[in-house]
Amino acid sequence: MAEPEIVDVVVVGLGVGGEEVAGRLAEAGLTVVGVERNLVGGECPYWGCIPSKMMIRAANALAEARRVDQLAGTADVRPDWAPVAKRIREEATDTWDDRVAVDRFTGKGGRFLRGSARLDGPGRVVVGDRVLQARYGIVVGTGTSPSIPPIHGLADTPYWTNHQAIEVEELPGSLLVLGGGAIGLELAQVFARFGVRVTVVEAADRVLAIEEPEASEIAEAALRADGVRIHTGVRAERVSHDGAAFTVHAGDESYAAQRLLVVTGRKAHLEELGLDSVGVDCSQRYLPVDDRMHAADGVWAVGDITGEGAFTHIAMYQASIVVADLLDHVRRARGGPDASGTASVVGGAMGASSAVGGTAGASGPGGGSGMVPRADYRALPRVTFTDPEVGAVGLTERQARERGINVQVGFAPLPSSARGWIHKAGNEGFVKLVADADQGVLIGATSVGPAGGEVLSGLVVAVHAAVPLSRLRHMIYAYPTFHRAIEDALRDLS
Ligand SMILES: Cc1cc2nc3c(=O)[nH]c(=O)nc-3n(C[C@H](O)[C@H](O)[C@H](O)COP(=O)(O)OP(=O)(O)OC[C@H]3O[C@@H](n4cnc5c(N)ncnc54)[C@H](O)[C@@H]3O)c2cc1C
Repeated sequence: MAEPEIVDVVVVGLGVGGEEVAGRLAEAGLTVVGVERNLVGGECPYWGCIPSKMMIRAANALAEARRVDQLAGTADVRPDWAPVAKRIREEATDTWDDRVAVDRFTGKGGRFLRGSARLDGPGRVVVGDRVLQARYGIVVGTGTSPSIPPIHGLADTPYWTNHQAIEVEELPGSLLVLGGGAIGLELAQVFARFGVRVTVVEAADRVLAIEEPEASEIAEAALRADGVRIHTGVRAERVSHDGAAFTVHAGDESYAAQRLLVVTGRKAHLEELGLDSVGVDCSQRYLPVDDRMHAADGVWAVGDITGEGAFTHIAMYQASIVVADLLDHVRRARGGPDASGTASVVGGAMGASSAVGGTAGASGPGGGSGMVPRADYRALPRVTFTDPEVGAVGLTERQARERGINVQVGFAPLPSSARGWIHKAGNEGFVKLVADADQGVLIGATSVGPAGGEVLSGLVVAVHAAVPLSRLRHMIYAYPTFHRAIEDALRDLS
């Protein structure tokens, strides 16, 4: 094994979170090595958010054109997948080439290494036959990969994950989607709108099972209206593939299609990362972190791997905290002032004691006693980009009741709001508010509708800043917007 190369920070995995951390630390003047085994940028730009939202944009254009009949005459709609596949290839992914992203990182002063990295004791990272020794810290941002359920026969079949679904050039005639969560529903609706016969099979008793039941109902109805067959409460027991078609067997029922897309959740792969060499229990599903993203002594984590929410906005939010905390750690290690409000760290080299878990005193939401922000997920927003969009923030009614909170609920259907009524075709949706009656603030909200994800933003501010209900009731909502349904729902809060 080669002599260790001494650098300031090693970032393992340059997905959304890792790339952001590595780039900003390099810009701050640290020697940063970023290691990526696949494509710099990670899942979001190549197989996730961006190409899937391009697909959704195209599918929604078809759906809007089909609504012309109800509003503005007639439209002859003939779907063609070719421009969508071309756009994903040429505009989103450069045919799955990350040269631009690598240059973006090295342009900030970072050093890039292509390869699979693993930790090998405090401060040490091994990539092939190279050994890196980090003076100040290691940041792990290795994300998640599809979690494939242990269904008999499935592993031996050529099933699709999100990668094949995003890369598809020619659509199949029929598609089985195993999993009725956000990704499953988004892709199911897209393919159905392009003429694929789509069947969704979901083990829970409703689709979008983590969201409000009213949201599940609307999403299911919308997909059924697009011709998607949906089977909930179905536990797949066996999968077979005869060379032409897949069959999913569940009790006496079976479901068949030309392709099978498995979207049953995501999973971190801690066991591959050598994290046991820094004292982490690798049998966990995710890598637990404290509110400054510390995972172990001298190790920070960012993004999906932390299990705090598999969203790009979570990875970016956490990245800012990692950057601030690591720079503070470097400052203190170099003998500078303590900005974090934590006990000072003596010495710079890895293996020296650090402030893991040592958050002193009050660390209120988003604040803490010093300049380093603390993670706070109370107002975590999430959007399922089906049509209608399902936006949600904070707690659902059920989660709030399970916590023993004195809950008030307000509900306003979108079609009976002025804008919903005007919108007519495609106006399904609602705003649902969950309030803590004792505190007089919103602790959760769901906004479903043509612009459900956009309407959500005001609700996120309300939950995040704990805006008193009395203030929300006495503000001015522009007429006739979809977000005026928030005012209706506030009125409905009993
Ligand atoms: C179909 C789909 C749609 C999505 N849509 C949205 C959306 O609309 N909005 C949203 O907020 N989120 C969305 N997401 C989720 C979003 O893509 C992820 O939350 C985000 O990519 C997480 O970023 P990350 O940095 O944690 O990990 P990733 O983006 O997964 O990056 C991790 C990187 O680490 C690399 N890596 C792993 N192990 C090693 C190793 N040992 N050595 C070196 N490199 C390694 C991987 O190759 C990868 O590039 C979607 C996801 C999917 C699959």
